[in-house]
Amino acid sequence: MTQALSTLADRVSGAVIRPGDPRYEEARRVYNGMVDARPAAVVRCATEEDVVAVVRLAAEQRLDLAVRGGGHSVPGFGTGDGAVVADLSPMQSVEVDDAQRTATAGGGTTWGRFNDVTAAHGLATPGGIVSTTGIGGLTLGGGIGYLNRAHGLSCDNLLSARVVTADGSRLTASDDENPDLFWALRGGGGNFGVVTDFTYRLHPVGDVLVGLMFFELSDGPAVFRYFDDVLDEAPPEYGGYPAMHLAPPLPFVPEDRVGQPFAVVVSCWTGDPDEGERFLGGFRRVAAPAAEMVAPMPYPALNSLFDPLLPPGMQHYWKNAFVTELTDDAIAAHVEMGARMPAVTCAMHLYTLTGAVQDVPSDATAFGHRDARYVANIAGMWHDPAQNDANTAWVRDYYAAIAPHSEPGGYVNFASPDDQHRAPDDYGANHQRLTEVKRRHDPDNLFHLNQNIPPSPV
Ligand code: FAD
Repeated sequence: MTQALSTLADRVSGAVIRPGDPRYEEARRVYNGMVDARPAAVVRCATEEDVVAVVRLAAEQRLDLAVRGGGHSVPGFGTGDGAVVADLSPMQSVEVDDAQRTATAGGGTTWGRFNDVTAAHGLATPGGIVSTTGIGGLTLGGGIGYLNRAHGLSCDNLLSARVVTADGSRLTASDDENPDLFWALRGGGGNFGVVTDFTYRLHPVGDVLVGLMFFELSDGPAVFRYFDDVLDEAPPEYGGYPAMHLAPPLPFVPEDRVGQPFAVVVSCWTGDPDEGERFLGGFRRVAAPAAEMVAPMPYPALNSLFDPLLPPGMQHYWKNAFVTELTDDAIAAHVEMGARMPAVTCAMHLYTLTGAVQDVPSDATAFGHRDARYVANIAGMWHDPAQNDANTAWVRDYYAAIAPHSEPGGYVNFASPDDQHRAPDDYGANHQRLTEVKRRHDPDNLFHLNQNIPPSPV
């Protein structure tokens, strides 16, 4: 392998970083500080040719191959002990075509970079909640964020992708070319190849009205019930989610309430701001918030609002479930378990899959659970490794408490390292077709450091 890696260093334009290199400690790290893998090499891929070289080497030498976009995978799929890492972080070009309203971005681009470029054109596509997440992993798994109710999931806005497949071929995947691969890329994660370029449909998005409303726990059940009811009549301009949080030290939170548990509604309104104010006023009529901030801001500012609370290197352990009906018992479980959060950076977010997400048929893309009204994501996020047991126990207990009110599967991008066995439930009726596409494009399962879909049933 040593010889093969030396040869690779001569063939790629980006750096090949191996143990002993002063850059190795930083290069082996991913966003989740709990992940401590020591890869054999991290290859900074700057071009499609670099990606082809790494894929071919890993296939020929039968090396573990990790593909890293933004590095945000909670299980740490962007690295691996002894693996060769194709690190796409140098591939961050973003080009906007104003006439077509499309943007093409390199496979290692983060949402922060993508949004900054498209916002300069008054345009955006649905992305994630924070700016440091990669467009790569997020889009390939589905893509949940503020703009879903208006414009669908991130993957619903993917028009085409340039892909390096397991045999080193370079393909375009779109509705017209390799449509089976294109279908699988939209929800099936990193199972099918390395995407070097993503082309998205863009939408006019200017300033958005942002609401952060913190309600007393005693008001939580009424507020969450109202959220669930109002969703049926909410226009697509409304993208928001109920959440459980300990109040962070933000300027609008009274000092003596910081660290206390609240039922929260996070809102983003992309339409007329006065109508947005009226819509958000509905929550105030249910209960008076104990703290709130409602303000217009550019979409990229909303996308980076929570970044300072979540620097790289924190400890992460997440679990999630699809929810078709938000019952009163489920809400009671959220309020009870949310109040027991062990760290101020932990969160439970109840993202909704309504609106434009449900305009797309469940079998039109690999993202199968369009019938689910919500994804409940229990995100354990904390700083001190000494608190690992307390935080992971809280996530597991919370997940167990909502399990009776949830579906068996979940969203692959919020899965924990121990959720690998869940893929058939995560994809439901689409799992069989995903297995077939996997067999066709990656029969030896070269791309297995992901929420894996094996080429044959295990
Ligand atoms: P990586 O760790 O680099 O990659 C994750 C997986 O995708 C790996 O299997 C990798 O091989 C594969 N991959 C990445 N890029 C490519 C590529 N170009 N080609 C082929 N395979 C690739 N998800 C949401 O839907 N909405 C959110 O709002 C959201 N917020 C998040 C906030 C935080 C703080 C974190 C930690 C995660 C969040 N996620 C969210 C989950 C996120 O979607 C997943 O962690 C996703 O996998 C991250 O993608 P990445 O490229 O940053 O990660």
